Amino acid sequence: MKIDNVRTMVLVGPDDHGVGGQSRHWHVLLVRIDTDAGLYGLGEAAHFQDQTLGVRQLIEGKMKSYLLGKDPFAIRPFVTNMLYGGLPPHQPAQSASATPFGPVAWAVSGVEMALCDLVGKALNTPVYNLLGGQYRRRLLVYLDRSTPADLNDLDAWRRLAVEAREDGFTDIKFDLDYAAADYTADSWNRSLTLPQINRIVERLTAVREAAGWDMEIAIDGHMQYDVQSAIRVAQELAHLKLKWFEDPTPVVNPDACVAIRAKSPIPICLGEVFVAEQFRLFIDRGACDMIHPDILFAGGLTETRKIADYADLNYIPMAMHNNSSALGIIACAHVAAASPNFIGLEYHFHDAPWIGQIADRNGQPLFEDGHVVLSDEPGLGLTLNNEVCRQYLASGERLF
Ligand SMILES: [Mg+2]
Repeated sequence: MKIDNVRTMVLVGPDDHGVGGQSRHWHVLLVRIDTDAGLYGLGEAAHFQDQTLGVRQLIEGKMKSYLLGKDPFAIRPFVTNMLYGGLPPHQPAQSASATPFGPVAWAVSGVEMALCDLVGKALNTPVYNLLGGQYRRRLLVYLDRSTPADLNDLDAWRRLAVEAREDGFTDIKFDLDYAAADYTADSWNRSLTLPQINRIVERLTAVREAAGWDMEIAIDGHMQYDVQSAIRVAQELAHLKLKWFEDPTPVVNPDACVAIRAKSPIPICLGEVFVAEQFRLFIDRGACDMIHPDILFAGGLTETRKIADYADLNYIPMAMHNNSSALGIIACAHVAAASPNFIGLEYHFHDAPWIGQIADRNGQPLFEDGHVVLSDEPGLGLTLNNEVCRQYLASGERLF
């Protein structure tokens, strides 16, 4: 069996509850790899709202020309070649200087997902079996709620928690940097003022009271703060029993995260844009309590399994960052199923139903009681919902 085509397709549509509760448009970049045996695999790649970052061009350019005529079973050699290169006379597909992060890793991730789906179908087994086998078939999902659009409306904060609970979810997350954006005194100095901290505490306390004490609530700092502001707000929120404080500072400096972790009563979770080597650095330095990889940024499902196992060797749990569609979150669930230290999988698009309907699993709902429930179907166990894809096809795109 040889690969005989690699294609991409972009969908676009509304998301009524983006960051800060604001409406926005969301793009989805899908990948399809075909073979001369008639089998094909589907993947999703990080798109970041537009087509200017080169991900699509990498997939349809260098990666396609590398893959044409090749055996789709050689998944790890593909990833290694693209991210880490090889000694001469091996000819790397990218350049002599391997680039193991950024848009190259994002493009690799989408292609690798499609190869995993394809190989699972070829072997007539679910992708989680390619990744070591299934610890669990129900994968806990946490909903990203960001904030309400009207920050002063405490009932709107409460509703975000209550609606999630009524829809079967036990875990939710809010965006700390948007939580009192109406009190930001200086957009550039990374500091929280006392009035701003007070409003954050009031609003998240309203959420906790509405959610009850058995619901898990996490917060995301979006890499915005200085060390002392992160420590101060974490200490003021200690009584709310939060699950984690994500990305308190820019995550290029493990020492800053070590300093925060030493004084934060809330566990520190990070790594949504990391590749494996960055996780190794932060874990070795004691800079995190939990990791938060994204299979669309880390280099794919098999790279993320490697990251999960490195964390597990250090007894560090793994939550999974995710802002992909139904297709990507099902792929995440296969990694989660095969990783012993998995504790939760993110989903952003509870308020944009079309994004959750892109993939079809014989009519099985995307979530059941706040979980993705995996089947025994081969590959990722899904097909594209062509009706939804046709409806949201971006201008100038062709359906696979
Ligand atoms: Mg985040």
